[in-house]
Amino acid sequence: MRENIDIIERHQKSLPGNAPLNCKMCPRLVKFRNSNIEKFPEYFNGPVPAFGTKDAELLIVGLAPGLKGANRTGRPFTGDYAGDLLYPTLLKFDFAKGEYGSRIDDGLSMHKAMITNAVRCVPPQNKTIGEEETNCRPFLIEQIEKTPSIKIILALGGVAHNAVLSTYGEKKSAFKFAHNQTHALSNGLKLIDSYHCSRYNTNTGRLTTEMFEDVFKNIQELLG
Ligand code: URA
Repeated sequence: MRENIDIIERHQKSLPGNAPLNCKMCPRLVKFRNSNIEKFPEYFNGPVPAFGTKDAELLIVGLAPGLKGANRTGRPFTGDYAGDLLYPTLLKFDFAKGEYGSRIDDGLSMHKAMITNAVRCVPPQNKTIGEEETNCRPFLIEQIEKTPSIKIILALGGVAHNAVLSTYGEKKSAFKFAHNQTHALSNGLKLIDSYHCSRYNTNTGRLTTEMFEDVFKNIQELLG
């Protein structure tokens, strides 16, 4: 029995640009999903809907759900190691309210912000492939187009950075990924990059809490 499926369905319907819960666009991801349904029937095991508010000024784009994190709980970064840095930072900078409890029913809410992923389904070995990033892009495009309040997009890692550039048809060579770099996109929106807040990046010291908070200070200043 899938836990909290009622809350996940509510999230799925409440924001634009979410994949259908039975999305079958990526054969490799559907195969992986089916094997996870057998192994972990209580997990959500589907395309994880975005989490946030319709009036979001900040859109955070991650990579893809983690197998035992967002793929289990049905909320981006929730239960994932990366969420243990992301959510406390969002709370500290007033982009979230409540308490983060690593579960979809922890009562946490977002404040003028939304979190989504470049690829909505968990990939094997945490690695997406180009075809899946392309297949999933229409959902990101719809999410952005139907949320006109967005002013800043925070890309967590290179895959998210490229997904945002492709969404806007921007040249990748004109906007190189760099940590805490602000890119002014042709349409007036700002794209800010951060190293992904993954376990690997934080354990190796590539991304420290201070570096991550500096990104949010930059975002706060830009939002004014
Ligand atoms: N969980 C997510 O939802 N996205 C990521 O990028 C990493 C973990």
